Amino acid sequence: MHVILMGPQGSGKGTQAERLLPRLGLVSIATGELFRNAARLGTPLGLRAKSLMDRGELVPDDVTIGLVEEKLDALGVLRSRDPAVLGALYDGFPRTEAQARALDDALGRRSERVDSVVLIDVPRERLVERLAGRRVCANGGHVYHTVFNPPKVEGVCDICGAPLVQRADDTPDAVRRRLETYFRTTEPLLAFYRGRGLLKTVDGDAPIDEVTEAIVRAVQPVPSGAGRVG
Ligand code: ADP
Ligand code: ADP
Repeated sequence: MHVILMGPQGSGKGTQAERLLPRLGLVSIATGELFRNAARLGTPLGLRAKSLMDRGELVPDDVTIGLVEEKLDALGVLRSRDPAVLGALYDGFPRTEAQARALDDALGRRSERVDSVVLIDVPRERLVERLAGRRVCANGGHVYHTVFNPPKVEGVCDICGAPLVQRADDTPDAVRRRLETYFRTTEPLLAFYRGRGLLKTVDGDAPIDEVTEAIVRAVQPVPSGAGRVG
């Protein structure tokens, strides 16, 4: 199963991915997280990505697609060893039509396909307040909000005890640039997936747990025979 989470910065993709991965038996393919890890390790790819990320600009498609292909190869190995792994959950990818087409090709070569694309729909005016209060754990991955989803102890991750930090690109300027890029370049992808009957929309302006349940319902395959009378 391959499920894509779509929505602008601040819509809750990372927050929901954390909760959905164990529920759905999927592994995460979160390109922003992969680029941040590579930057932390100081790899050539990470250093190239970092200056773009800090400015709130997209990493070139070929670099991003290459990284996702590597993750798909690793997923293939993992699945051959662990039957509980059912597929991947994509957060922050694809963001351009070229990336969406490359993902189709990459999955097609593996006799797989995108099963669902879920748009987490949040009014635009909510996004900036969400991003201003976002805090992430220094190990990466776990997401909090100073008001909407605070940790039990201020400044400390509930799960791994690491300090909570603000992302380097959650400055007002970089946030504005990323949101502009989303609405210009990524939002048109919704039509691409809607046209194929894959797009499902959930209300993202609801409590976190309610959004999770709505996504689980949206991606569950309709049982055969559902909707038939008698
Ligand atoms: P956000 O969605 O808040 O911008 P992400 O963690 O998804 O945060 O991404 C952080 C940065 O990583 C982006 O601003 C961009 O520079 C880079 N990035 C992540 N995913 C992609 C992608 N699919 N294509 C190009 N660049 C990406
Ligand atoms: P994205 O990955 O789409 O950029 P995040 O998951 O990082 O979004 O969420 C952005 C911020 O909004 C975080 O601080 C998070 O705690 C908060 N948040 C996420 N979902 C909700 C929600 N349903 N209600 C209120 N705040 C939320």
